[in-house]
Amino acid sequence: MKFGGTSVGDGPRVRKVVEIIREAARESELVVVVSAMSGVTNRLIEAAKQAEAGNRGAVEAIFEELRDRHHAAVSSLIRSIPMWGRINRELRQIFEEGERLCQGTIFLRELTPRAHDSIASLGERLSARIVAAALAESGMKSEAVDATELVITDSCHGSADPLADPTRQRCESRLRPLLQQGIVPVVTGFIGATTEGRLTTLGRGGSDYSATILGAALDADEVIIWTDVDGLMTADPRLVPGAATITEISYREAAELAHFGAKVLHPKTLRAVTQCGVPLWIRNTFFPERPGTRVTPDGSPAGAGVKGLTAMSDVALITVGGSGLVGVPDVLGRTFATTASVRASVLLLSQSSSQNDICLVVPSSVAERTIEALRTEFTRDLAHEKGEHIILDKTVAIVTVVGKDMRGSEIASRVFATLGRENVNLIATAQGSSECNISFIVKQQDVQTALYAMHQEFQLGAADSRPLPVRGVGVARATWYYESGQQTASAD
Ligand code: ADP
Ligand code: ASP
Ligand code: MG
Repeated sequence: MKFGGTSVGDGPRVRKVVEIIREAARESELVVVVSAMSGVTNRLIEAAKQAEAGNRGAVEAIFEELRDRHHAAVSSLIRSIPMWGRINRELRQIFEEGERLCQGTIFLRELTPRAHDSIASLGERLSARIVAAALAESGMKSEAVDATELVITDSCHGSADPLADPTRQRCESRLRPLLQQGIVPVVTGFIGATTEGRLTTLGRGGSDYSATILGAALDADEVIIWTDVDGLMTADPRLVPGAATITEISYREAAELAHFGAKVLHPKTLRAVTQCGVPLWIRNTFFPERPGTRVTPDGSPAGAGVKGLTAMSDVALITVGGSGLVGVPDVLGRTFATTASVRASVLLLSQSSSQNDICLVVPSSVAERTIEALRTEFTRDLAHEKGEHIILDKTVAIVTVVGKDMRGSEIASRVFATLGRENVNLIATAQGSSECNISFIVKQQDVQTALYAMHQEFQLGAADSRPLPVRGVGVARATWYYESGQQTASAD
């Protein structure tokens, strides 16, 4: 069972988590994976950046704030004096380690990827201790375990990939004996270590992946991701009021939704269970009586059709093309070699073959370095050309329609007709050969309209009766928030 940041966000929430674990532990052995308390990883990364900039005061202020927040959680959860003393000692050691890492960074004025990972990992190390202590306080046997002991990864700091065999061996030797003794291990999500023992992280939001890595390594009967919504939904409930919980979905469809921006699952989550076929559940910590979403190798027998919609706005469109590149050899091959050389993952690609026109979408975090590298690659070819042939646009978003067996059906034409009706300008589109997704690029300001209109067109929602959000200059624009199971609107 994995509990996300909001689920362990403060003392009362951890108490709910303890109830869920107690109930489940009556039925079977279980391993718990926890995220950092919500917002903590962001603050730690901010501290690391402030340290790199030499802002000692800002670093101290962040650590002070984090200390207060964690101690408040401990005070509300732990009554036993010896336990209180022990947990506070453990937290103090972790905070001291973090401060030492930041001091080193201030001294060097350099934030290495290794130090970045070590600082970012502190939140999980703190929350695992707090949850383990809260379980012990409620009378259960539990032990906090750092995933550096369990999840063995490559050395790609910031987005490490697990190595299955050594991870399995570590889980067997470290976790199995705990389970046999009736002890509930509380493992830090997000973290791993190389074979040499250097701490790595799996990428932002990576605790979901930690859960499936451990589930696969231990041949679990199931993996449950406990979060702050009812399951995997037909669209991001913050953007589409009336988004409904999907009852059952295939690995493939869920992976597509996650890959194209459904934040509820880390994009790599399904990778770890693809071979072993362990069912995955997504459920609501705050409404544990609700069934949630079941993710299985084949999904529901009901089969084909649109299951959900996603959008990614933190992306940039790079266009390589125009008359200047006509006749230039191997534009596609060179473009990809260049994106690979700067480690930019291409999220979407569309090419028109008449001219050498290529549209590619990359995460905005790598946009600048990708465009620089491409301009360098084609400098000679474009030396005598006027105008710009390699163009960056950061005002776009990818919207993706996900479902099973969509090829050959009328879904693409319905998508285009719907967007046309809503005056949403389609910049480019791509359909995966997997038949599982149709993605298209639109302006960021059109995302909500596009999602909402398609949600209605494919009748995905439970209660799709709210008015369309309004677009346009000088017109009020509604934003929907989803908090604690309640939808509320705010206008700006
Ligand atoms: P956790 O802290 O539990 O890992 P996250 O914040 O990472 O939770 O992910 C849960 C959030 O993902 C939800 O609160 C919701 O706003 C967002 N989300 C985006 N797309 C979807 C979707 N299709 N289904 C469910 N939630 C989604
Ligand atoms: N705490 C980490 C993050 O914020 C991992 C996670 O929450 O899954 O990215
Ligand atoms: Mg998450």
